[in-house]
Amino acid sequence: MTYNPDKNGYYGQFGGAFIPELLFPNVKELEDNYIQIIESESFQEEYKALLKDYVGRPSPLYLAKRLSEKYGGNIYLKREDLNHTGAHKVNNTVGQILIAKRLGKTKIIAETGAGQHGVATATVCALMNVECIVFMGEKDIERQAPNVARMKMLGAKIIPATSGSKTLKDATNEAIRYWIQNPETFYLIGSVVGPHPHPDMVARLQAIISEEMKWQLKEKTGKENPDTIIACVGGGSNAAGAFYHYLEDKEVELIAVEAAGLGVNSGESAATSQLGEVGIIHGSKTILMQDEYGQIVEPYSISAGLDYPGVGPLHAFLFDSSRAKFMNATDKEALTAAYELTRLEGIIPALETAHALAVLPKLEIGENQTIVINLSGRGDKDLETYIKYLE
Ligand SMILES: *Cc1c(COP(=O)(O)O)cnc(C)c1O
Repeated sequence: MTYNPDKNGYYGQFGGAFIPELLFPNVKELEDNYIQIIESESFQEEYKALLKDYVGRPSPLYLAKRLSEKYGGNIYLKREDLNHTGAHKVNNTVGQILIAKRLGKTKIIAETGAGQHGVATATVCALMNVECIVFMGEKDIERQAPNVARMKMLGAKIIPATSGSKTLKDATNEAIRYWIQNPETFYLIGSVVGPHPHPDMVARLQAIISEEMKWQLKEKTGKENPDTIIACVGGGSNAAGAFYHYLEDKEVELIAVEAAGLGVNSGESAATSQLGEVGIIHGSKTILMQDEYGQIVEPYSISAGLDYPGVGPLHAFLFDSSRAKFMNATDKEALTAAYELTRLEGIIPALETAHALAVLPKLEIGENQTIVINLSGRGDKDLETYIKYLE
């Protein structure tokens, strides 16, 4: 497949593994084994059984009738919000913990910004009785108290990152530092980012989303392919999963939606493809927001899950090659879209997901057009923000 990374982990010019020498054996071990493990019968059996009975898959593909009436076409929602822990992230953590176990790892480390990936990781560590350490910026620990409490209840140890801006990128730096000093640990990355093979591994674990979409659409419409798929992009894992089995079907339009914050050119934005340039972040060559010295520019979005200064290398390639169309939505547009979905369909989406919904008014939708929006997560965690907006 054109969209698989080459043997050095590159999608076109993007990807690779830019890692300190001390991490090389660890990353190489994973690289040598991950495909074989994922494709093995025993892994597939255990992974699929957990996705079914623990996560609650297949997630429904729901025809949103009132939303379709408003915007035209047939708009389907892929309901990742109904997964255990409330988002797509658990597809990845369930898969990676099974890989970690097969590699004989007994300790998991992870980094988290808003705490969603931290919770999904702590959840599967509890399930598998594996020690779990989560790195989190000090500022995020204050801002995301409910998720911090969840992780603690699940038995994870939380280590605050106290350097720099005390947010996600600092937590990532701390996690990598710890990994170098403790190479026997397994670094459970939360999106299609990081050094090869992490982006490809996470994409393969999230690919269950489009695998299901194919047979669900066939069942409902008689054909496997929609005309358009829309997903929001932070690091890019839910979009990678929703696009994965359609990447080679050029007639399927792929739309990736980034967070524009207060506006793409406002200085308070996370629209990486529009503002970024080629550089290296978290061990991968990709597009990222940087200043004239190549230092990371702090991104901004109302949604913590899209507040990331880069995109995964697959998405950099999809952008560069124009395979996917990159759009964006502001905080305000996302809030409006979240209220609209809630009032039309009785579904409160995550703020991240609301960005994907927010491009509907900007599209020209044909009467017979079939659109799938990946509903990446539920909005319980965002209620405080939503209520503030209403007032
Ligand atoms: C974390 C998160 C995202 C963004 O992450 P991706 O890797 O880009 O998918 C999107 N939606 C929800 C609900 C999330 O929790």
